[in-house]
This record gives sequence, C-alpha cells and structure tokens, in this order.
Amino acid sequence: MIRRKTREITLGSLKIGGHNDVVIQSMTSTKTHDIESTLAQIDRLTKTGCEAIRVAVPAKEDAEALKDIIDYSPVPIIADIHFVPSMAFLSMEAGVHGIRINPGNINKKEIVRDIVLEAKNKNVCVRLGVNSGSLEKSLLEKYGYPTPEALAESALNWSSFFESLGFYNFKVSIKGSDVLQNIKANEIFAQKTDIPLHIGITEAGMGTQGMVKSSVGLGVLLYKGIGDTVRVSLTDEPEKEVEAAYEILKSLGLKKRGIDVISCPTCGRIEVNLPKVVKEVQEALKDMDLPIKVAIMGCAVNAIGEASHADVGLACMKGGALLFKDGKILKKVSEENMVSELLETIEKHYHKEVEV
Ligand code: SF4
Repeated sequence: MIRRKTREITLGSLKIGGHNDVVIQSMTSTKTHDIESTLAQIDRLTKTGCEAIRVAVPAKEDAEALKDIIDYSPVPIIADIHFVPSMAFLSMEAGVHGIRINPGNINKKEIVRDIVLEAKNKNVCVRLGVNSGSLEKSLLEKYGYPTPEALAESALNWSSFFESLGFYNFKVSIKGSDVLQNIKANEIFAQKTDIPLHIGITEAGMGTQGMVKSSVGLGVLLYKGIGDTVRVSLTDEPEKEVEAAYEILKSLGLKKRGIDVISCPTCGRIEVNLPKVVKEVQEALKDMDLPIKVAIMGCAVNAIGEASHADVGLACMKGGALLFKDGKILKKVSEENMVSELLETIEKHYHKEVEV
C-alpha cells in the first residue's frame, strides 16, 4: 500500500506523518479535573496501546489538572478546546503537547492567530478541526450546504492562515456528517496539500454500527494511503476504540501488535463451544507480542486444510482437539488441556526465537 507523502510534525515525543507509522489516538471520557479517574483511564488506554490521548478542557479546573496528568502520562497529551479560547492558553501554559481547536467555533480570527502564535512559541502541535456544524457563512453561501468541497476548502483556507503565521506543526481533521462525506472531503484535501491528516468517523455510534461505520470510513481512506493519526470514535469505553483501531490497521498491514488469532465461523460440524475456547485463547495470549497466526477451528474435518496458513492451532473435536503446527498434527489433546497445550507449544516454538 502506498501511503500519501505528508510532512513530518511533532507531538511531544511522537513524530507524525512523513515515513512514520499511523498513530492511534483516543480520548478520555472522565472529567479531566478528576485527576485520579483520568489517570486510571490513561493507564488502561496506554496498556491497550494508545499512542496519544486527548482530554477535554472545558473549564479552568480542567486546565489546572493538566500538569499532573502530563507529568504522569507516558504518551503525549492533547487538550481538546471548544468555544473557550482562554482554555487553549491555559493548556499550553500547563505544558500540553498538543491542542485541538476548531477555528469555526472561535468567533474571532485574531484569537485564532494568537493561539497559533502561542503554539508556535511553545512548540505545541495543533490539530486544526473543521466540521460540518461550524462551517464559515461564506462557504455555506457559496456551496449551499456543507458539501465535501466546502469542508475541504475551509480546511485549506485555515491551513493557509496557519502557514502565513510561519506555523507548520499542525495536522488537520475534517469531519462530515456521514461516512461518504468524510471520505470525499478528506480525499479532496489530501490531493491538494502535504499536511498530515487525522481521520475518524465522528459520532459513529455504539456496538456493531459504530465498528462498521468506522471500519468502512477509515478503511477506505487508509487503503488510499490517507491518514496519519486515527481515532475510532465509539460510544463505549475508550479502550475499545484503541482495540478497534489496531484491528483496522492490522487488517491493512499498517500496524503489528499482539498475536493474530483467527477462528472459523462454525457450522453444523461443530463439536465444541468455540466462542468460549477462542475467548480463553485470546485472553491467554493478549499480552504476547509475536508475529504469528493462531487458528482455532471448530472441527477436525476441514480445519487443518482451511487453516494451513496459520502457524499453530487447534482443530477441535468431541472431548478435545488436534494440536497442529505448520499444517501438521503434533498430537491429540484433551478438552481441559487444549488451551494450555497450545500455549506451551507457542512458548516452545516461537518465544525463544523472538527473544534471541
Ligand atoms: S472448521 Fe469445521 S466447524 Fe468450522 S466452519 Fe470449517 S467445517 Fe465448520
């Protein structure tokens, strides 16, 4: 896959754009001034692999909590600013690595200028957000409604303004009201500039709907090489967003993490409670990071052939499973031992190789 060539920018210790990997972001859902809860969530997020974390800063008490949060967080912290520009200055004063602003909801251009100049002074990364709800009046009059062209034009105009101030350490996010509008607006913008893009499908929703909308929207853009940072927005615990982002990036070959566990869809030949076995294996392997594929198949009839591309796996059968490696059966294992036997095989055959 050929990724769009973007300029490299800096967010704290992270490099974004250029030849760097796509960065996974999420946002805390706690009250930022509740430092203990916010730090606990940051801890869970970073353990899941989150690489940059945004926190909401709607009020002074939230800005005042930032210093402790920044001191503790192992990943860069981005302050999310809406409507109250003074929070941008307080956040930068507190030492945030990045801020997210939507110039469309800061009603004076001079204030946007002052925020950008302060970010330039303090080497703070800015995410310039444009969305369909806060598009400039002139563009609404020109296009009639927030079309993808209007959104891209707004983002390009604000980008030019940032650059006219000698500021280049920023990325852009363009949020349309639906998946297609999002894709189109990002594509138009991407064709015209090398500014890095943060992509995400905003308000994607819950459960299956949220996952599917995000996977389709992000998947299409990433496949076209567009996207330097991503957030999967879900109405769920933020850790789920990070897990989903990894799955999307892994499926496109853009990120490697953990062990790839595959399982069959099951059919009338099934002899075990496969979801239970898969969950146990996933749980047991969740902290291992190896470039291997583990297959858990519901029966022994077609399993080894179907899973021949897997490195190691179980083909379940009544009362146990066949443990196989590289398409060859190693042994028959009992139901109660099959997960532990699989883990031992992985340890024995792969862990050493990786540690060497
Ligand atoms: S592995 Fe067996 S149970 Fe699973 S889908 Fe294939 S034939 Fe059906």
